Amino acid sequence: MRYISTRGTAPEIGFCDVLLAGLARDGGLYVPQTWPKLNASLDARLNSAASGEVSTNYAHRAASIMAPFVGDEIDAKVFQKLCVDAYSTFRHPDVAPLIEIAPNEYLLELFHGPTLAFKDIALQLVGKLFDHVLSQRNERVMIVGATSGDTGGAAFDGVASCRNVGIVMLYPNNRVSDVQRRQMTTVESPNVHAVAIDGTFDDCQDLVKAMFNDQKFRDANQLSAVNSINWVRVMAQVVYYFTALEKLGDSAVFSVPTGNFGNVLAGWIAKQMGASIDGFVVASNTNDILTRFFESQQMIANEVVPTLSPSMDIQVSSNFERLLFEMNNRDGEATAKQLTDFRKGGELSVVPNIYAKWITGVFAGYRCNDEQTLATMKDVYQKSAMLIDPHTAVGLSAARQSIGVNYPKDQSIITLATAHPAKFPDAVRRATGQTPRLPEHLADLMNRPERIVSLPNNLKSVQAFVSSCR
Ligand SMILES: *Cc1c(COP(=O)(O)O)cnc(C)c1O
Repeated sequence: MRYISTRGTAPEIGFCDVLLAGLARDGGLYVPQTWPKLNASLDARLNSAASGEVSTNYAHRAASIMAPFVGDEIDAKVFQKLCVDAYSTFRHPDVAPLIEIAPNEYLLELFHGPTLAFKDIALQLVGKLFDHVLSQRNERVMIVGATSGDTGGAAFDGVASCRNVGIVMLYPNNRVSDVQRRQMTTVESPNVHAVAIDGTFDDCQDLVKAMFNDQKFRDANQLSAVNSINWVRVMAQVVYYFTALEKLGDSAVFSVPTGNFGNVLAGWIAKQMGASIDGFVVASNTNDILTRFFESQQMIANEVVPTLSPSMDIQVSSNFERLLFEMNNRDGEATAKQLTDFRKGGELSVVPNIYAKWITGVFAGYRCNDEQTLATMKDVYQKSAMLIDPHTAVGLSAARQSIGVNYPKDQSIITLATAHPAKFPDAVRRATGQTPRLPEHLADLMNRPERIVSLPNNLKSVQAFVSSCR
């Protein structure tokens, strides 16, 4: 399998290079040259792999589903072992259990990994892959990134035991929650570094971009990225759409709490590969650029407003570029132009026949404000005695809004539960009066010693720090 850039001019490369590169040199995102189909013989292999521990089943399943994307760049047995190692860190034997909460209404719990957010499913595997590929090549990289909360902790946990990886994550000082900060600052491994920047999340992102645009610095420090545009993160998320449908034994609609569009894109890819998915509900909070797009066929950027579901407080969904590339019939030049115009003018529109072909009947967008988020959390607690996190609540609210409008009343609908309620205790308390408890492995998180580096919002200081971490 070879990979091409959505902007058409970067060279075509293989799986391991895609893993390490993150972003293509032409500014585009890598996608596989074709979407593989999961055929009957593969399904048979999937079923025969189902033996022993259930978490091993998930890992074996994952290895088979992802095999066409890896191609012959990693030996199949080795890749399977990496998957087994990655998913052995999950606390639930199913890894991603499917829970029925009402007739035809399901939650797919993706938060049983070490840092309690669905990002663990991809980043645990990414960590194992980095370690494997870099030790084979005898290379070392320095991952740099910006985080507004969940990505930092999940990335640290994923690479904490990697010998050939250093990681620096910038976060806005005083603007992440205590749990989120501590999940970064209490990791003991010497190769991970959380840096509090005196500025906003946008300032952090600008610093990271500036480091990547400084070619000399980038090459001297062998910079790498694991943010959600890295293809391997999307690839790892394709798996649970298949495993959920296999557990359900039927086709379904998926409702996906959406920020950067990575998770819902992974579902769309599963559908291209043959998964029996009836459609996608794209769930947004008040930052509803995607909902407005599905209403008007026009993407118009607004200011970001803070909400109870901070991991979805995003203005421009970077992974949407991969869908846009398909809508442009894989014309990289056209995609690049559309996106440059969007960055300049803040507007992007799609002509009606293209929209009808790719979007209508496949995606439906719904929004859910903070009040609806709290009401949904309260309703689930009252009816099922279950606590759900605010991101999951946005997804569930959107799912409920779509039933009877886009889908029949008896449609099976699976909402992706993207975070554990204990990650957002304040919102859970406000909605239900209950305080969710952290799982045992994190019970003493609030008492662990923190290691914090604080830096000004200044490129030279941050670059000097990154160089010193090599
Ligand atoms: C990252 C995140 C999302 C958004 O996922 P995307 O792939 O960026 O659309 C939703 N919920 C939680 C809890 C997250 O951490």
